[in-house]
Amino acid sequence: MSQPAEQFKKLIAHCKEYGFIYPSSEIYDGLSAVYDYGPNGVELKNAIKEYWWKAMVQLHENIVGIDAAIFMHPKTWKASGHVDAFNDPLIDNKDSKRRYRADQLIEAYMEKLQAKIDKEVARAAKRFGEAFDRDKFVAESPRVAKYAGQLEAVRQRLAKAMSAGDLAELKAMIEEYAIADPETGSRNWTDVRQFNLMFSTQLGAIAGEEGKLYLRPETAQGIFVNFLNVQKTTRQKIPFGIAQIGKAFRNEIVARQFIFRMREFEQMEMQFFVRPGTEMEWYEYWKEHRMKWHLALGTPPEKLRFHDHDNLAHYANAAVDIEFAFPFGFRELEGIHSRTDFDLRNHQELSGKKLQYFDPELQQSYVPYVVETSIGCDRMFLAVMSHALVEEQVPGQDHTRELLKLHPALAPVKCAVLPLKRNDDQLVARARQIFDTLKYHFNCQYDDTGSIGKLYRRQDAIGTPYCITVDYDTLEDGTVTIRERDTLQQERVPVERVAQIVQERVRMESLLRRL
Ligand code: ATP
Repeated sequence: MSQPAEQFKKLIAHCKEYGFIYPSSEIYDGLSAVYDYGPNGVELKNAIKEYWWKAMVQLHENIVGIDAAIFMHPKTWKASGHVDAFNDPLIDNKDSKRRYRADQLIEAYMEKLQAKIDKEVARAAKRFGEAFDRDKFVAESPRVAKYAGQLEAVRQRLAKAMSAGDLAELKAMIEEYAIADPETGSRNWTDVRQFNLMFSTQLGAIAGEEGKLYLRPETAQGIFVNFLNVQKTTRQKIPFGIAQIGKAFRNEIVARQFIFRMREFEQMEMQFFVRPGTEMEWYEYWKEHRMKWHLALGTPPEKLRFHDHDNLAHYANAAVDIEFAFPFGFRELEGIHSRTDFDLRNHQELSGKKLQYFDPELQQSYVPYVVETSIGCDRMFLAVMSHALVEEQVPGQDHTRELLKLHPALAPVKCAVLPLKRNDDQLVARARQIFDTLKYHFNCQYDDTGSIGKLYRRQDAIGTPYCITVDYDTLEDGTVTIRERDTLQQERVPVERVAQIVQERVRMESLLRRL
């Protein structure tokens, strides 16, 4: 197994062992691509949501929140284009009976071409040592030029086929490039067909198409249909935004990457309504602002990048992804889309209700344009976890420790109170007393179920930034030690100051001030 694959496996095991994520209904062998969040997982997920919500709603006077229902009138999905166009191209392998997304098979082929280029570069870098000029080599190497040319040709062909919904062309590409089933190597493929990703269910006693409801595949439409309600009841003036966090459902064809691609997931979306013609300025603004939000967490810049869409969705006139270096490579974490007036205009047409804004400065009414930021909460969770989980040498000792280097504001438990010895009644009673005062300030844990070393290791593994150790000096002079997770430094402080010290360091405010 490759190192990244090994690392990813470890991460999944860690998530389960430490109560972050469990497979759904595991006693029945789980449900594919559906997961449950455990006690630490729900805390971390809530902290991610809080960070997003505060960054969007609390820090922007002109952004307000809503919480719309998952079920919506079925016409919503006709107007949004999801009934007709929310499809993925599906292909089956006749031998293995495995199902794939045709575009993803071709993308994997492109990644292989990219890997060949990277290999050439790495080989040359080794050969030339310090004198190696990467740009010069890439520009001059005939082999790199050959692979890069092939890669570009495939990219353009794929973008064109996807935009045109040309399924025969996708099949032709798979055959021409001799793309095989990644699991079995078989090239015995069916034709490519469209597969709609929406889950449907039936409303009450109404049979047939009339009563057919969809589980929303994105939260955005709840915002669009409430656009005028919100604008009128909050008296917001354009430009303004509406934010929402909520569940979305997609019947994904291939969902094999843990919580990266789920069938039930959560989105954090914000639709920003702007004057037509100004959308590109706002698009640039939100690109930059959202990147800042990621960087403020301490994620190294080289783990994040922008990726412009080659193939625009049916509603967009510009779109970019923020990609993160997941253990399985750079993948989309967040999308920023300029959606024009596509959604509002279609809802206006199908509902027969005006969805316009009277602009007092221009003295005219128009259907606003929209710039959207859309991030999956679960994908963000995976990004945070995969960056935070490290195994490191304990300074000054000969063993390693598993450490979850979460930003303190995101950590599920902010501080643990640990008695130095678990079978000393006085220490235990004092530690409990301290815990009982701290629990009113932040999420705190009391633990006396092992030796102090074992208790520290457990807190390191769930990312607790501070451990308060209660020892014999505490009984005498009322001081405790605060152990800092990353540096392992210990500070001796009076018990009365602990709440304030920890509070200051774990506050969400410190993160928000970086934006
Ligand atoms: P992908 O290309 O990976 O399928 P997408 O372009 O369809 O994603 P969007 O429709 O732009 O995704 O959704 C916005 C965000 O919602 C994505 O950036 C991602 O973080 C999240 N998301 C989308 N689909 C899923 C899913 N199946 N599981 C978890 N998160 C998802």
